[in-house]
Amino acid sequence: MMLTKTSNGYDNARLGFQRRDPHRPDAIFAVTSAAEVEEAVRYATEHDLHLAVQASGHGPGRGLDGGVLIATRGFHQVTVDAEQRTAWIEAGATWREVLDATAPYGLAPLSGSFPGLGAIPYTLGGGLGLMARRFGYAADHVRRIELVTLDGVRRTADPDLFWALRGGGGNFGVVTGIEIELFDVPTLYGGSLYFDVAEHPQVLQIWRQWTQTVPDHVTSGLSLVPLPDIQPVPEPIRGKYIAQISLAITSEGEDLIKPLRAIGEPAMDTVGELPYAESGKIFNEPDRPDSFSSRNVLLSDLDPAALQTLPKLAGPEAPMRCVIAIRHLGGALAHEPAVPNAIGHRDAAYSLTVITPPEGDELQREILAPWQPATIGRLFNFNDAGIDLREVYEPETFTRLTALRRQYDPARRLQANHQL
Ligand SMILES: Cc1cc2nc3c(=O)[nH]c(=O)nc-3n(C[C@H](O)[C@H](O)[C@H](O)COP(=O)(O)OP(=O)(O)OC[C@H]3O[C@@H](n4cnc5c(N)ncnc54)[C@H](O)[C@@H]3O)c2cc1C
Repeated sequence: MMLTKTSNGYDNARLGFQRRDPHRPDAIFAVTSAAEVEEAVRYATEHDLHLAVQASGHGPGRGLDGGVLIATRGFHQVTVDAEQRTAWIEAGATWREVLDATAPYGLAPLSGSFPGLGAIPYTLGGGLGLMARRFGYAADHVRRIELVTLDGVRRTADPDLFWALRGGGGNFGVVTGIEIELFDVPTLYGGSLYFDVAEHPQVLQIWRQWTQTVPDHVTSGLSLVPLPDIQPVPEPIRGKYIAQISLAITSEGEDLIKPLRAIGEPAMDTVGELPYAESGKIFNEPDRPDSFSSRNVLLSDLDPAALQTLPKLAGPEAPMRCVIAIRHLGGALAHEPAVPNAIGHRDAAYSLTVITPPEGDELQREILAPWQPATIGRLFNFNDAGIDLREVYEPETFTRLTALRRQYDPARRLQANHQL
């Protein structure tokens, strides 16, 4: 179905979760099949128009002005092959839809913290999931990719494209579907411990020390969140500056987390055994559309002195609301997959992301300054559009990716989230 600026449903089709700089296309193709994607790409080619693709719109906020938007939300079937432990996912499926399809078989995908994310954009950008340290990036476990390239041809990714699309984002065509591996993880031991930073200032250092002792099947993150003093926020954490330690452990975990419990009484505790299908409860991120800016760095270490600066620079005294999200990396993330892909900086030990309102550029820089000596790169998925992609990849990977981009989109008509 094609929508124009005067059609009913135009705004609904173009607006996603991220409301900063939304798309303003002349035409929207709300696709429901690969054939419709082909038709949309051909329309853009024949009329020499720019085009962009949007699934759930959590991406980094890079609006397309004019041209064609391919909105994939209605193209979202998930088909599970329980015997092979794989799933075929169509372009617009969210992780929620994948989780619902795989749960009856006790199988789990390598989904991220928030089930509302589009599974394909997340995976094209690498995909740092809840079980990342045990299994690696989501893009390390993709079996097959189908796409429509800018010449309007529907194809299965050949070895070059297959390498590039797993980590190189949406730069080479419109992906219509991917086959992913599933894992035998019906339940997790996980949830979050919410500590009041004012009461337990040692929480950051203790989490840091603990991450250096845990086995690879423990994946965790620490977020610093200033919570407003309003009704939807649970009463025990309302109005507080919270250090939220989020845990996903693929074994019994009570003993493993004893050093964290020894920090003291958390203001709120949601940790326990839970079905993998409910893993969105672990980080429990808000699901209302928002306008935000996000800047990420990959670190070789979590410097204790720099860590100590965070509550002061990003906490309640900061000039604007600011969330810090740190994830513990390593484990399987450090290993190249059997079929190599474009993901860089596998030696990173932690990822640190600063999230502010759109006007937070200066504050983000100030917060990240003490981390400069340990910064070795950036993750594709957690950054605003406009970053220098040379920081995301190894130099030879960047060269190979840009050459493929020139080959598949010589006129640069496809506007990707992170443009190569
Ligand atoms: C609350 C929140 C939690 C997050 N948690 C995680 C996490 O745990 N791990 C992680 O790795 N990332 C995480 N992210 C980042 C997220 O994975 C990326 O922003 C991802 O792109 C979002 O997917 P989407 O469907 O919302 O993307 P969209 O905004 O719909 O698309 C993003 C971009 O992907 C490309 N694209 C989309 N569909 C296609 C297609 N079919 N073919 C080709 N290109 C396409 C386009 O370039 C598009 O601009 C999180 C983001 C948010 C806001």
